[in-house]
Amino acid sequence: MIKLLSFSFALSALTMTSVKASVPSLAVTFDTNVVTFAMSNLQEDKIVLAEEKIRDVIASEEFRTKILNHTYNGKKTFVDNGGLTNTEIYYKILYGAEKLQPAKDNEMDLGIKVYYENSNVVGYTTTGSKNINMNTKYLNNYTSNQVTRNMMHEWLHKLGFKHAVNYSTSRDYSVPYAVGSIMEKIAIKF
Ligand SMILES: [Zn+2]
Repeated sequence: MIKLLSFSFALSALTMTSVKASVPSLAVTFDTNVVTFAMSNLQEDKIVLAEEKIRDVIASEEFRTKILNHTYNGKKTFVDNGGLTNTEIYYKILYGAEKLQPAKDNEMDLGIKVYYENSNVVGYTTTGSKNINMNTKYLNNYTSNQVTRNMMHEWLHKLGFKHAVNYSTSRDYSVPYAVGSIMEKIAIKF
């Protein structure tokens, strides 16, 4: 009896050490609350899969590390960071307090509408709306990984992050672009 008991203790201790304990619990409990409007089943399935991946990525140690260690011009920072440090940006993501839904509910609250336009605009959102708009010209051809990048980018606008309108190399280091890119690179692994 005693031998059996000590064995099971040893086993659980072993299991404990293999669990990555460095992400905060808010990263593990992070949820997605996404509402879609007038989508086809294929589009809907892609969004649902992207949501799963977003939760997996945010719960990952790699996501935490990539945000905390993000650099621009040799400094640990983002462009257009709203005056926040990398750590503060990480926690702002985990809190999930959108400008228009300001409760720290630890989730991505997002509505997604679709439209078609033969242009190079993947999607857009406006500050007065809880929704984002996705161009089906891109959505229909995107992988779920590419969709995670797009959702994350637009959702970061909902948290209040901005970026330059016109392309510049520094724009890639803004919070919406850089975190969107980090999201997609890790999403591929899930
Ligand atoms: Zn944007």
